[in-house]
Amino acid sequence: MEAMDIQPFLERSSARHDHLCPRQVLGVRIGLLASKIFGTPPGENPGKRLLAIVESDGCFSDGIEVATGCTLGHRRLRLQDYGKIAATFVETQTNRAVRIAPRVDVRESAYHCTPQEKRHYYAQLQAYQILPDEELLMVQEVAMIEPVKHILSRPGVRVQCSACGEEIINERELIRDGQILCMSCAGEGYYSLKANLSNT
Ligand SMILES: [Zn+2]
Ligand SMILES: [Zn+2]
Repeated sequence: MEAMDIQPFLERSSARHDHLCPRQVLGVRIGLLASKIFGTPPGENPGKRLLAIVESDGCFSDGIEVATGCTLGHRRLRLQDYGKIAATFVETQTNRAVRIAPRVDVRESAYHCTPQEKRHYYAQLQAYQILPDEELLMVQEVAMIEPVKHILSRPGVRVQCSACGEEIINERELIRDGQILCMSCAGEGYYSLKANLSNT
């Protein structure tokens, strides 16, 4: 198979930043390989077929987005913040899941690949664009612990929190003692309230 031209995707990713970095390149390469594995057109996600779960935020995830068309706005991009350059792609209809990460020896491969470049950052930047998939990436078939239907939930559903009264969409409510509660009111929030600044 002819090597794909990754430049348009690198341009789209770096346009969101003031630079192109090795992590964006890895994001693009990982996303493009996922498209190839699942047979989706590069950069597009027709029928919202793929869900991408990225294991870190930052530049890397922009590479994944532009290469797969999986976005937060389409509810097809999720963050599991493990601080890793890796992503799992789930085919939403079949639950088939493939995790892709750089090979653990990828830095050494990069320095071998570009011996003329003594600066490690630039060696990686170049090599990650040209190394073949087999030398750059590790691919794992994985099983999702939480079914993808659960992760995606039903987007149309709306309920009201019985404590704060705010609306909860996407089936993210919790039921405690028969009461519908939002995550915050159920004690599983990410913030604590200091003061209400608006008139109620
Ligand atoms: Zn960067
Ligand atoms: Zn609430």
